[in-house]
Amino acid sequence: MHGIHPPRQSRRTSHAQRLLAWYDIHRRELPWRAKPGEAADPYRVWLSEIMLQQTTVQAVAGYYRKFIARWPTVGALAKAPPDDVLAAWAGLGYYARARNLHQAAKVVSKEMGGRFPSAAEELRKLPGVGAYTAGAIAAIAFGAREAAMDANAERAIARLFAVVEPLPGAKAKLLALGKSLVPHKRAGDFVQALMDLGAGVCTARRPACEKCPWADECEARRRGIAEALPAKAPKRARPLRRGAAFVARDRSGAVLLVKRPEKGLLGGMLQPPLGPWSGKFPSDKEALAQAPFRAAWKKLPGVVHHTFTHFELEIEVWAAEVAKRPLNLLHPPPEGGSITPKRLRVGGSGRGNRAARTPHRKTRSASFSASPSRGEARWISMAKLKDAALPTVMRKIIAHAFDGQAKSARMR
Ligand code: SF4
Repeated sequence: MHGIHPPRQSRRTSHAQRLLAWYDIHRRELPWRAKPGEAADPYRVWLSEIMLQQTTVQAVAGYYRKFIARWPTVGALAKAPPDDVLAAWAGLGYYARARNLHQAAKVVSKEMGGRFPSAAEELRKLPGVGAYTAGAIAAIAFGAREAAMDANAERAIARLFAVVEPLPGAKAKLLALGKSLVPHKRAGDFVQALMDLGAGVCTARRPACEKCPWADECEARRRGIAEALPAKAPKRARPLRRGAAFVARDRSGAVLLVKRPEKGLLGGMLQPPLGPWSGKFPSDKEALAQAPFRAAWKKLPGVVHHTFTHFELEIEVWAAEVAKRPLNLLHPPPEGGSITPKRLRVGGSGRGNRAARTPHRKTRSASFSASPSRGEARWISMAKLKDAALPTVMRKIIAHAFDGQAKSARMR
């Protein structure tokens, strides 16, 4: 390690003991956390760690309780219909996690007799379990001497040792330093203590060093550079992608939704029909050619904005109310697909419309299928909409359409 060596045994023990003593008093009560003296349940630890990937404790708590109430064991989760799992996950984001969660539950239930493996390298073989999650589960559920370096832990360790090399390049070094501190006994408590310290004391801004168990040993504090660490390499700007969405309602208020392909962005989730995404909005003529069927489509004022990890999305929303559900739909593929117009039959046969013959532009990713099978479009009643497997961005689009239509109705 450039200029920083793992601390000597005596210092490691001192760091660990101080942190554990602090944790015994200040530990957070979390719904998935075993009480002092209780054995941790690997299923609950795994479920919470998957949910906590890139998501805050506050956002996860309600979802965790809902999942545990509905699927109290890994076997119960394995038996759940995939759509139910996706619907229960809706709103938590990063939907590949939900699909992997279900897959992993099946593997543990069917191939491992319902018991999670205890070694980090075995845990990593489960779908959706990376190095961090494997380390966290191994340490918390099985007491293995593993580190789990989330952003909170990385920040505290970077400061304790004054690691000035920027992230993400410094990750390996921070992991090695973090792991060197994990004690042989109470490894799980140590890992959770480090998370709690980063979340509540060694915060990104204004760390509360006066409350910190490492205040006397912290090199960044001694040098007065704590708030500047961890250093981060400059972020690249996210590209902006734009497109059109089509929110159709029938007389009863039911909304037309289509299912995304299982693989890829928001895989297996529902959405209103969308046109392809590119650097600019389609012209009105282009947008109408992307509509799922001919109707009195009306473009609503404003745009829906959503930030994904790797890009920003802006969507113009077109709305229509139909007296009769169309029998044939042109189903525009989910964004970015290799776009070949396909007809999708819903409820019977009939002739396609003009839009079905309009070629669509091919955009960035070819990983999305443009061929949803029959039956993957559906009209969802207002009452069922709240429980549908709709990701947040699609809920925003539908809400925008409802708001826009209500405003138009008031102005008429
Ligand atoms: Fe973080 Fe301050 Fe503790 Fe150092 S002393 S680890 S900067 S809270």
